[in-house]
Amino acid sequence: MRKRVFSGFRPTGRQHIGNYLGAVQNFIALQDEYDCVYCVVDIHALTTLESTESLREDIYEMVLDWLAAGIDPQKSIIFVQSHVPQVEELHTLFSMVTPLGWLLRVPTFKEKVKMQPHNVNYGLVGYPVLMTADIALYKGEVVPVGEDQLPHLELAREIVRRFNSLFGFVFPEPQAKLTNFPSVLGLDGVQKMSKSYNNHIEIAASPREISERVMAAFTDPARRYRSDPGHPEVCNVFRLHNFFTPARVEEIASECRGAHIGCVDCKKILAESISANLEPFRERRAALVSESGYVAQVLADGANRAEVIAKGTIKEVKEKMKLLQRADLEQLG
Ligand code: SF4
Repeated sequence: MRKRVFSGFRPTGRQHIGNYLGAVQNFIALQDEYDCVYCVVDIHALTTLESTESLREDIYEMVLDWLAAGIDPQKSIIFVQSHVPQVEELHTLFSMVTPLGWLLRVPTFKEKVKMQPHNVNYGLVGYPVLMTADIALYKGEVVPVGEDQLPHLELAREIVRRFNSLFGFVFPEPQAKLTNFPSVLGLDGVQKMSKSYNNHIEIAASPREISERVMAAFTDPARRYRSDPGHPEVCNVFRLHNFFTPARVEEIASECRGAHIGCVDCKKILAESISANLEPFRERRAALVSESGYVAQVLADGANRAEVIAKGTIKEVKEKMKLLQRADLEQLG
């Protein structure tokens, strides 16, 4: 029997090449080996969102990108977290077995408090409990994570371990699957690629938009003139060539070091290769857009399939916890 993968992703709208190389490609690859559950975690997003104005559009655009990139709704369950309300139930039940001290020690909680001192809401503290409920509700055994997510997953393992020891075995302890894909630096060459830093390229961008973005990218600061020898190892344009122009990286590195190629020409090559790589994606995306209601149908079907699993888990949890369920009232006497 195939193991189940669970992965949640905040609704961030149109995906950029950092999302694509760091997460979406991984989601696609996992589908052939595991039963995958991919969840748009809209409730998690509320812990940091200033406004929910663009939430619906962000969910649509992100899922559209996932589907166009190759996440297959026949193979994987794709749904929105809040469409399966049992996750909120399990979150509450897990919160009763999670010592507060565990949550207050989580490094990302402390970071978030610094980042948004005006909005230190309960959801920020309870984030790892909700994340555990997300995984455990679907009995996720494998969770693709980056290194920075490892403490959260360890906490999830501790919570389910505690539940299992208090009430009897229900949940497998989720195992981390570290992604092989590195985090992608943005066009500023300093920060991780992110829309909030405006240093990104959307995977749905047109060739012209890609070219404009790449042309504005930072390169090796030592190359002030074309005749200056370059250092490709410190240049983010070169790093992106590794992903999009792999067959020519040796040649580009050598030409850069020998000052035989200028940064403008080097960027033109990169823009063309990004554009060519993403061309099939853009075509599939356009085809899906023309299929009215397709994304909604995928999400509705995903929520139905997810809810079947979720209801089974909640029933099992309540039985183990010996909660008095409505269905048992007749036996109460
Ligand atoms: Fe970077 Fe290319 Fe310029 Fe070298 S030639 S510094 S690799 S952009």
